[in-house]
Amino acid sequence: MSETVVELKPATPALSLPREIPPEDWARYRSNMAEILDALGLPLGTPGTRDTPERFLRALYEATAGYDGDPKLVTTFPTESDAVEGQPFAQIVEGPIAFSALCEHHALPFHGHAHVGYIAGERIIGISKLTRLVRLFARRFTVQERLGEQIADTLVALVEPEGVAVRLEASHLCTQMRGVEEHSRTTTTAWRGVYRDAELRREFLDLAG
Ligand code: ZN
Repeated sequence: MSETVVELKPATPALSLPREIPPEDWARYRSNMAEILDALGLPLGTPGTRDTPERFLRALYEATAGYDGDPKLVTTFPTESDAVEGQPFAQIVEGPIAFSALCEHHALPFHGHAHVGYIAGERIIGISKLTRLVRLFARRFTVQERLGEQIADTLVALVEPEGVAVRLEASHLCTQMRGVEEHSRTTTTAWRGVYRDAELRREFLDLAG
């Protein structure tokens, strides 16, 4: 099986460069964070909280690692079975893929599960890459709708499939923590290509349900 490294446009986020934050900037962010946490009421002098500003900053940095890109995403393989003329399309559906993201309006987490489906054309991508693809865009400041669109569009760019379907279901802490809608879950879908077909959508949603 021959690997191909897909030539992506420079703007493709899979190829973004890792972020670099100089140590002196990081130290300033940490002290700003300490000031904010202190003002909100966190006692920073205890053994348990002394390093909280650093840990919080580090946790945010890791939760947004999607901005560093993922160079391992760009390898694809040729489809092995020959498509038979007139045969119905076969779906590849992966999920549930757990993800956590930060809502760009409140910088608070939303988290849930993704199902990603596609119908291969000439190329396929390793199943584990679909998880990488979800996390590449989830580990950012984003909104659920855009997350689904970016996953779909990048999968289209990577394997040029016949169609792509993405379903995301998530709980948003920004609504739950503030008591707006305590237990609601939000579902979004994104469709590309042959998934304009209603029956194919239904089959995907059954598999993803
Ligand atoms: Zn929010």
